[in-house]
This record gives sequence, C-alpha cells and structure tokens, in this order.
Amino acid sequence: MRSLDAFAGDKLAALEAKRLRRRLKPTRRHDGAVVEREGRRLISFSCNDYLGLSHHPAVRAAAAEAALNYGAGAAASRLVTGDHPLLGDLEKRLARLKGTEAACVFGSGYLANAGTIPTLVGAGDVIFIDALAHACLWAGAQLSGARVVKFAHNDVEDLARLIEAERPSARHALVATDGVFSMDGDIAPLDRLSALCQRHDAWLLSDDAHGVGVLAEGRGSGALFPDADIPLQMGTLSKALGSYGGYVCGSRAVIDLLKTRARTLVYATGLPPASAAAALAALDVIAAEPGLTAAPLAKARLFTRRLGLPDATSPIVPVILGSADAALAASTALEALGFLVVAIRPPTVPEGTARLRVAFTAAHDDADVTRLADAVAALRRQAA
Ligand SMILES: *Cc1c(COP(=O)(O)O)cnc(C)c1O
Repeated sequence: MRSLDAFAGDKLAALEAKRLRRRLKPTRRHDGAVVEREGRRLISFSCNDYLGLSHHPAVRAAAAEAALNYGAGAAASRLVTGDHPLLGDLEKRLARLKGTEAACVFGSGYLANAGTIPTLVGAGDVIFIDALAHACLWAGAQLSGARVVKFAHNDVEDLARLIEAERPSARHALVATDGVFSMDGDIAPLDRLSALCQRHDAWLLSDDAHGVGVLAEGRGSGALFPDADIPLQMGTLSKALGSYGGYVCGSRAVIDLLKTRARTLVYATGLPPASAAAALAALDVIAAEPGLTAAPLAKARLFTRRLGLPDATSPIVPVILGSADAALAASTALEALGFLVVAIRPPTVPEGTARLRVAFTAAHDDADVTRLADAVAALRRQAA
C-alpha cells in the first residue's frame, strides 16, 4: 500500500472513532423547503436559501437565459477575458445596497475572504479575529502572514485589551468578525467594534454572509448599526441571494487594489455570467418585495418562542446538545419525523458544543415550524 493511502485510511479511522468522519449525502432540492435524500422527501431546516430565491421563477429564468446567451463558464480570470459586463452591473448594485463607493465580486465568499485579507495585511501587521469567526476568515488571516490574535466571541472588552497591548508594535491592524455568526445566529456588536477600531486605527472587516437579504430590509447586519463605520463589507451571493459567488464592498481605492492584487481574483476564473444574472434578479425581487426579507427571522422567532429560548436575532438558531453523538442522534430522530436538520460537530463548532443548527426560510410553513419546535422540545426533555 502506498504510504499516502495508509495515511488517509488511518486518519479516517481515527475520525470515525470520534464520530467526526463526514460523508456526502446526495440531495435534490425542490421548490419550497423540500429536499429529497435516498428517495425520501424531507422538510429542510439546513439550507441557507433564506428567501427561497434559488428556485424563484425570475431568478432561475435569469440564470438560464444568461447561460444560453453567454455560455456556461467565464473561460478566464476577470483580468483576462472573464469580466462579463453583468459582473460590473452586479457590483454597482451591491455597492448601492451596502452604501459604499464600489464592490468586487469573487468566485465565492470563501475566495473573497481568502483573497482580501492577504491583500491588505501581511508580515509586520496584526489581525484580531473573533474566536467563532468563519473558517474562511481564519484561512485569509493565516495566509496573510500577519500576526493573528484571537479575541473572545463578541467580547469588545477583551478585544480592547488585546488591541491596546498589540496594536502599537504593528504597522497596520485589521479586525475580522462575522456580522451574523454562521453557527450561532448571534450578531456582532458592530457599533462598538467600529468605535474601537476608529480609536486604534484598525480596519474592520465584517462578513455578512448570513445577513444580506434577511436583516434590515435586506441590507444586512451592518445596516442595523447606522453609526458604525465598516470599511470592508464582505458577503456571499450563495445564501439569501440564491445564487453562487462572493463579494466585498468598500471604498473605490480598496476595491481597485483588490482587483489588482487579490490572488483569488487574479488567479481564479471569473464568476459564471449565469451566477451574476441570478444574483441581480434576486436583488430585483428583494427590492420589489421588501416584506419578504423579514420572513426568515419571523419564522425563527416563532420557533424560539415556542421552545422558550431567547428570541432569535437572525434566521439561524442553535440547539446545543454537547457531544457529537447526541447531535447525530437528535438529527436522526428528526429525520424519522420528516425533518432535515443536520448535526454540526467539531471542528466546525468548538469541542463540547455539537448542535442542531436550525435555519429558517421564507419558504417554511408556520405549521411545520411549530411541529419542529415540539419535536425538538421532546428531544430536549428526553436528554435532560
Ligand atoms: C458560507 C459562508 C462563507 C462562504 O461563502 P461561500 O459563498 O459559500 O463560499 C463565508 N462566511 C460565512 C460566515 C459563511 O457562512
């Protein structure tokens, strides 16, 4: 046996023993919140398609038409021949939505963070990053070569202490956080982070992957804090906007620098025109139906109230169960009742906090939300 295969086999066996091996499960997604796995139809509470726009007739038609007219792929980096005019149209729309001078579209949200952070900071600089920030913010931080300093989750006092100690010896400083935390659903205190950043000349990067389209009439988590100055507003086209791709909104100078130097833009193929067309159509739907954007949070609140949990602040509600085993067992029990609620285990979440991550969308019926809440309540009673 090749040492490579022996290595991979041993590693998988060790993960399996800790219930941390993961497997892909082919899943067909249908209209509404329905998914199909192994021939069974389930109501999914594990999709980030918060507004159901991936299946909206206008969004699908825009993607299909763009693919038919402009081809399935972009064929080159944006800096070569892959910069279809639809990408520029989309950037104007995103900049307007976020209230910035400019925007840059990337191939995905992951690529946006992995490319942006190393363009702006490097050796001699410092990055302060929330302990629960998304993996791609960590990836960008590690790639940059800057000193990486973790602060306690949403703890502005902890960050203040660390900035006071570490900022003076660094040339530039960047503070990276999720706007809406992907596995907890809570919201970063962007107003207080922004004030602290301004006091210490640190650049605030907020990842709004789970805020755009669903908070503040669709403008995202930053708009919940009108006084916050967030010079780097990153997000994805892949969740509430129902398409695929990522973006950063910021000043003209910053965006022009990203387009010149971000390695995940320069050395990666441009976003397919169909993905840009779909995102533009999704933004049109949101503009025409602003009421739609409030629905996911309303469903999440119906769930948290029924369970006696603190009011949801975003469409994501964690039900923390502790061990990987407990989370997997709960997920299996819910699946038997017709619900898909995927268990989230380490290293996606910290050790000992395996959970059900319940994501609510405009496509959920109130009756299904209530049924799920009652099923989760029964599981928690059994576990107690
Ligand atoms: C999903 C997600 C990303 C990655 O976005 P993609 O477009 O899926 O690559 C980035 N940040 C957060 C917080 C996310 O939840």
